[in-house]
Amino acid sequence: MSAKLAIDGGKPVRKKFLIFGSPQILDVEIEEVSHTLRSGWLSTGPKTHQFEKRFGEYVGSRYALGLSSCTAGLYLALEVVGVDARSEVITTPMTFPSTANVIVHHRAKPIFVDIEKETMNIDPEKIESKITPKTKVIVPVHLAGRPCKMDKIMEIAERKHLYVIEDAAHAIETKYRSQKVGIIGDVTVFSFYVTKNLVTGEGGMATTDNTEWAEEMRVKSLHGISTSAWKRYSSEGFQPYETICPGYKFNMTDIQASLGLHQLKRLEDNLKIRERHWRRYNEAFSRIPEISIPIEEDNIRHARHLYTILLSLERLNISRNRFIIALKAENIGTGVHFTALHLHPYYKNTFGFRQGDFPNAEYISDRTVSLPMSPKLTEKDVDDVIAAVKKVIDHFKR
Ligand SMILES: *Cc1c(COP(=O)(O)O)cnc(C)c1O
Repeated sequence: MSAKLAIDGGKPVRKKFLIFGSPQILDVEIEEVSHTLRSGWLSTGPKTHQFEKRFGEYVGSRYALGLSSCTAGLYLALEVVGVDARSEVITTPMTFPSTANVIVHHRAKPIFVDIEKETMNIDPEKIESKITPKTKVIVPVHLAGRPCKMDKIMEIAERKHLYVIEDAAHAIETKYRSQKVGIIGDVTVFSFYVTKNLVTGEGGMATTDNTEWAEEMRVKSLHGISTSAWKRYSSEGFQPYETICPGYKFNMTDIQASLGLHQLKRLEDNLKIRERHWRRYNEAFSRIPEISIPIEEDNIRHARHLYTILLSLERLNISRNRFIIALKAENIGTGVHFTALHLHPYYKNTFGFRQGDFPNAEYISDRTVSLPMSPKLTEKDVDDVIAAVKKVIDHFKR
């Protein structure tokens, strides 16, 4: 007899709800934020520049630009490579909406390419047939922290004269073969949103080796004016600003950078903690036929951002959404990364996508569940997640 599920009035696996993706904020960060608030310099200034420098060193890029979000960075990156209303931009449907939204903001057309079932990343073999004279950029997304097959993507881009802008929102620590994500494509953009591996509340960073683009993105991230406020108002002299172009308000603040500086220092240690949780999940779930676990690949470094299980719906009497509700009743929070973007109302209605257009993305979209994966989890939290998943699976297996 299996234990009575909490959705059926049974006792939940744990008392307190385990929030999915709750950020780890330590006292050092809180003190740094206080220091910034007391300093009187709240917006882009010395701490942002220090964070940019250290982040650039971590990644190995020539330039790193602190931004208000990854979305802002993707928008700027598309702009500096020249995407406009005549362009087509290739990306994956298995991503967060902003990856494609920014393409639409430029009045360009998002062209989805199906994913590989095993890696859940864009399938390089399917890219070429989607390239037209209008294609300008490929935007690979390193889903969950797993690198896309960048050698093939870069080879296609070079041969077809396309730019590559990487959405590395999940992939701060990721390496593809020996190359760090952040120095492979033309521009790479990272996210520091609350649930990501490095947290600044809201925030992002763009990296590139291209001097012109770096300068253009910097100017456009702050109104399109020629000198930064820091230089205008600090003791370093005076220079009135001039508007060079109608820029945006995409700059990072020193309050955000205060968090980022310390989060960056802990990044590698936190990865080790998540790797440990990852192994425990793998051990617990590898022999359950109703679930499949993420594959392991050689020659890459996975950032272990999201641990996603796939439900074998064919072996279960429960849908993915019901499974999530059942886990929630057991006091375990989970996520879905992602619902295939071509089936979201806007994309479906505007571009005429249909069910069946990207079968692999739809397959994952129907079955994927992201389990809690954070350096904040205790061993007991991980035990509870495992127990709850096993309990629900046990109850609904055919
Ligand atoms: C979180 C996320 C983004 C957006 O990041 P923001 O910093 O919130 O703008 C973009 N792409 C992917 C794949 C994401 O997960």
